[in-house]
Amino acid sequence: MSRSSRLPGFYKLDIEARQHLLAELADLSPADLQALAGGLNVGDADVLVENAVGLYALPLAIAPNFILDDQDLLMPLVIEEPSVVAAMAHAAKIVRMGGGFTTGSTRPVMIGQIQLLDVPYPDAAIIRINALKAELLAKLKHLHPTIRKLGGGPLDLQVRKLPHTPAGPMLIVHLLMDTRDAMGANAINTAAETLAPELEAITQGRVLLRILSNLSDQRRAWATCRIPVGALETPELPGEAVARGIFEANAFALADPYRAATHNKGIFNGIDAVALATGQDWRAIEAGGHAYAARDGQYRALTDWRVEDNHLLGRLEMPLAVGTVGGLTKYHPTARLALKLLGHPDARQLSQIMVAAGLAQNLAALRALVTEGIQRGHMALHAKRLEMRRNS
Ligand code: NAD
Repeated sequence: MSRSSRLPGFYKLDIEARQHLLAELADLSPADLQALAGGLNVGDADVLVENAVGLYALPLAIAPNFILDDQDLLMPLVIEEPSVVAAMAHAAKIVRMGGGFTTGSTRPVMIGQIQLLDVPYPDAAIIRINALKAELLAKLKHLHPTIRKLGGGPLDLQVRKLPHTPAGPMLIVHLLMDTRDAMGANAINTAAETLAPELEAITQGRVLLRILSNLSDQRRAWATCRIPVGALETPELPGEAVARGIFEANAFALADPYRAATHNKGIFNGIDAVALATGQDWRAIEAGGHAYAARDGQYRALTDWRVEDNHLLGRLEMPLAVGTVGGLTKYHPTARLALKLLGHPDARQLSQIMVAAGLAQNLAALRALVTEGIQRGHMALHAKRLEMRRNS
């Protein structure tokens, strides 16, 4: 967006006034505004899943104040949990004081797995697969012309040995493929299925599974921020103490899986909310994030926070298999609207936006936990709801 994402007093407006302001800021059409009120219809639901009987709605909100890579951005969030939107808006305001988030991402490379059993000579099979790699990848040439035309497509084959499983030894072939702006499940599954008979012939083994891995660790996004400690002060605590507390709280979650689960859940409060708003497969994103958090054998915090030169430095890096084409983005008018609000990002840009949302949410949660505790804000909102119910 060309205008500032700072929207002081946005939270005080009624919904209609917020919609009006949003329409002005993001150049929304009357049809766009309709998507805010509805979204899917029952006919769409019937196309999407089996045995559909209706629809299920959730709130869509906007977190203002974000700057990402020097661009102002309004963050669309679909979430039912109170406090998350306000907390994110507040964290984005704090990060803004340090210039906003800096983000990046890898090429959008997905992994497909082909499971080979009963391979008589595994080491020889690995040598043969590696020797025939170019020919095997060439077998996929006719698939996914759109993805290829856009610069994506199959990139590599990697073989892993699993010598000790309850079903005996197996070989696992990873197919690496750049799926461009698609999440890529369909493209990668088709490619894995195409390669399976070739791999059986080469290895004299038996193929069982041919399916993508949700641990999409070749497709990662990261966000960093650098906040002057003064921006963290509260009426009770100086900024240095809050920054130190955030570092210590993060250290707890790096060392202890019981804490890490809650810490990472907070990160997903941000990431899932953008994922839902933009029509992503949030189960795939969750699976990838949690598996990545345990990549060294222990489940840990996904974030890194440290204090340097009077600044609090934060970083979040994780797999984010997201798409801006295909999947639900094709059918859901509100998801399309959310993508429009974000300036029609490509898949890499969307993953960078989502990881910044995750880092913002983590900052908000840690800041609250090391200062006033999480309950004060929660309970204030809870009281507001009770009041509303009493008055209705
Ligand atoms: P898709 O197959 O609906 O769309 C992808 C296609 O869009 C590409 O093959 C290409 O033909 C076309 N396309 C047009 N413009 C493109 C561009 N710029 N970049 C890339 N492709 C472009 O989508 P998908 O991403 O393969 O499927 C995602 C869905 O698969 C998700 O809804 C997910 O829930 C589901 N899924 C997930 C899993 C899993 O995570 N384990 C397994 C199976 C299915």
